[in-house]
Amino acid sequence: MSLRKRVIEDTDLYDKRVLIRADFNVPLDDAHQITDDTRIRSTLPTINRAVDEGAKVILCSHLGRPMGKRDPKSSLAPVAKRLQRLLGKEVAFAPDCIGPSVEAMVAKMKQGDVLLLENLRFHIGEEQNDLAFSQSLAALADVYINDAFGAAHRVHASLVGITRFVKVAAVGYLLRKEIDYLEGAVANPMRPFVAILGGAKVSGKIGVIENLGKRVDKVIIGGGMAFTFIKAMGLEIGNSLVEDDMLDFARGIQEHAVSRGVKFYLPVDCVVAASREPGAETKVLPVQEIPKDWYGLDIGPASVKLFGEAVQNAKTILWNGPMGMFEVDAYARGTTSLAHAVANAYALTIVGGGDTALAVHRAGESENMSFISTGGGAALELLEGKELPALAALPDVDG
Ligand code: AMP
Repeated sequence: MSLRKRVIEDTDLYDKRVLIRADFNVPLDDAHQITDDTRIRSTLPTINRAVDEGAKVILCSHLGRPMGKRDPKSSLAPVAKRLQRLLGKEVAFAPDCIGPSVEAMVAKMKQGDVLLLENLRFHIGEEQNDLAFSQSLAALADVYINDAFGAAHRVHASLVGITRFVKVAAVGYLLRKEIDYLEGAVANPMRPFVAILGGAKVSGKIGVIENLGKRVDKVIIGGGMAFTFIKAMGLEIGNSLVEDDMLDFARGIQEHAVSRGVKFYLPVDCVVAASREPGAETKVLPVQEIPKDWYGLDIGPASVKLFGEAVQNAKTILWNGPMGMFEVDAYARGTTSLAHAVANAYALTIVGGGDTALAVHRAGESENMSFISTGGGAALELLEGKELPALAALPDVDG
């Protein structure tokens, strides 16, 4: 697909103060150590381009939810350290993201220097898309580059408000890649196109199911949400996750898909447990035989085989949501086995959502997927066919 927005490679960065909005919202452990730096690594092409072009590179991001207050637990200081290692060059760290002290640091920067600003969300104006805050941020930059896909569904100052005040604004490499894969593949897929949807709830994915349902050749439903579809078929599901107010929707969407020739796959068996406590007794049973009071927590081996065969001839596979409660080893097998099947298919394979990305990583298949999205909420909104506010706010090519 062709992105109609100005992109980084068509933008003059030489000797400019280039403010890059990144998504460095990385997970940290109790000792404040980064446990997964995928989001930082994914932004390196954009940062390197700016450095190589001789820009003064200013980076900004949010981290966590400090709710407009300074909170040392949400400091971006560990990100500055990690970036320094990944870039192999010094990364200065500003103790704030706006104000005279930051402006003074920026004024001293030379070509190729990199400066990371402190957490944008230490200011309440960020999440409020406040104009004065947007203007203060914009004052730091000659050029603004948005590369924060994971936050692109938010109407925040550093993503939307700022675009009213900067002279030049463009899309970074990561944001562009995410849009190309998630929007491009869905708009113009190589067929057969298979969507695999899982996770806890139908209600969280109504828009995705509706939008993809119109475009795919096959839909595979697993995870907790499958039980709403199974109950809608009149079967007993015990204590498994269910949304009773979604039964009509589930029935309707399945009937509609089937009437249009879309193949619709649900689990045929599942792993059930007597309770959700660790070490509970488990059994593998056909979905017709789920005992009252038991919990369906993973798809079973027959479903893995069925789903695996359904993806085998696919040319495009889009996967969002785990097949079971994969965080617990006893219920991870369905998701892991499907990760192997997807990775082995001769297809463009796109993985969206933090849980699914983690499950694919644990299965050791990250390298074997075509693309793994760095955004959860933003990816879902794109898959729903919605326009991302941060992208909409950027100028068109001729703009
Ligand atoms: P979501 O955020 O909707 O994609 O849901 C992801 C969560 O769904 C994960 O934390 C899984 O543990 C959970 N999940 C998936 N399948 C099941 C299931 N059968 N029973 C309970 N939780 C599930």
